Amino acid sequence: MHKEITVRQLPNFINGEFVETGNTFDVLYPITGEVTAQAHIAGKAEVDAAVAAARAALNGPWGKLPQAERAKMVHAIGDGVNKRFDDFLAAEVLDTGKPYSLASHVDIPGGAANFASFADVLREHPTEAFRTDTRDGLGALNYGVRHPRGVIGIISPWNLPLLLMTWKAGPALACGNTVVVKPSEVTPSTATLLGEVMNDVGVPEGVYNVVHGFGETGALITAHPGVDGITFTGETVTGSTILRAVAPTLKAASLEMGGKNAGIVFEDADLDLTIKELGRSCFVNSGQVCLGTERVYVHESIFDEVAQRLVDYATNELKYGYPDDEATNFGPVVSAEHRDKVLSYYMLANEEGAEVLYGGGAPKFGDERDGGSWVEPTVWKGLAHDSRVATEEIFGPAVALIPFTDEDEVIKLANDTDYGLAAAFFTTNSSRVHRVAPQLEAGIVWVNSWMVRDPRTAFGGMKHSGIGREGGVHGLEFYTETSNVCVKI
Ligand code: NAD
Repeated sequence: MHKEITVRQLPNFINGEFVETGNTFDVLYPITGEVTAQAHIAGKAEVDAAVAAARAALNGPWGKLPQAERAKMVHAIGDGVNKRFDDFLAAEVLDTGKPYSLASHVDIPGGAANFASFADVLREHPTEAFRTDTRDGLGALNYGVRHPRGVIGIISPWNLPLLLMTWKAGPALACGNTVVVKPSEVTPSTATLLGEVMNDVGVPEGVYNVVHGFGETGALITAHPGVDGITFTGETVTGSTILRAVAPTLKAASLEMGGKNAGIVFEDADLDLTIKELGRSCFVNSGQVCLGTERVYVHESIFDEVAQRLVDYATNELKYGYPDDEATNFGPVVSAEHRDKVLSYYMLANEEGAEVLYGGGAPKFGDERDGGSWVEPTVWKGLAHDSRVATEEIFGPAVALIPFTDEDEVIKLANDTDYGLAAAFFTTNSSRVHRVAPQLEAGIVWVNSWMVRDPRTAFGGMKHSGIGREGGVHGLEFYTETSNVCVKI
């Protein structure tokens, strides 16, 4: 049922204090379109203050903390999120409209786990050491020493707000950096709430800072001479803008960007398993997952069966509703602006000759939800592989089914894209598994599954989907700088 909403204030969090600027923007509830909060926009003065606080903490208490003490504190941040699980859950649901069933299993526990997973990253990964020959025969010893990169600007998106922000803040802090976070303007709540946790667990002031606002606030961070590195997740166009913005000050940048991920269903796939995984990959979080599948190539011999079974999945498994209703597993998209973008692709699909097998529009409820940003899960066939709908990122719960005839052809089709984030394919032939997987140009390839994640593994995209890898030891490339020490023996 719909509950009364009290409008919250979302201040910036700078040097351990909550800072209001009085210059606010409204945060809306995607379920109904109501205002749930007012976030205070950070201008140059606030961004400067956040960067200065982060620098002072880096040179002061945080930088001086022994590694084991720092790791303990990063663990404590994760525990602190878990202690306030219900508050984080409520805040995330108000910003995104996603079902509690999803946010309570993915967003909030995943956000907390990001601190635990990365807390010990430095302790667990040794640096290299080489014994080097010298002319006098005595030799030299080379070994690497890791330093924190410095003040890290974190610019994050709205689809998994806490999870994707902490995916960066966790390793950044564990490696001894300090951070200035600019959460998405659409979903600013949980980053703000995390400031309270930082204070509660005794993280020194200035280690974690949050500034709110739109792209302009993000641009103040990317151009700031006091920021040493930018880690960004968001659209490819924004990533490209950021790459240009960091050039004059020569900052390191780690970019996780958009995708148009392919699914492939071979003729020998186990279809019960395939439909379950594929259904999730197309529709979970209302299709707003960067790793989700928006085009599925299905072997021609089983095309009609797979199409029918995916439609049955959408019909029987996806339940619209209020987020706190236990049965709800399908929510709105994040904003009216994003709904309009997704619906524009639904119109375009009709123009490009799609046959709509399921959905294709926006649901009508006859209640206050009609003010929200809902779209129907949608399945198309009949779209050409090179149509705009099958090549551009929609970031909604919609999938184009396209037939193929043989393995070589489908590998070419899957790779025929500017993006290269993820791919998922389904087969029971183990030779095919190892033949096809390495040929796919994607940072992550799932076989007979989707979204099985291990934070220790490399995460990132090829081509226009990303620059750099984060996760486990791979994140050390960005969150630390290694200097080589050479000792003559
Ligand atoms: P977006 O690029 O619109 O915004 C992301 C962030 O960048 C926001 O905080 C925004 O305010 C900020 N921003 C915008 N312009 C800026 C500028 N000029 N300088 C600095 N910051 C700026 O992305 P979004 O709509 O929030 O997120 C959806 C996109 O994110 C999709 O394309 C999706 O594929 C991608 N995504 C990628 C991954 C991944 O890991 N590769 C994960 C999740 C989402």
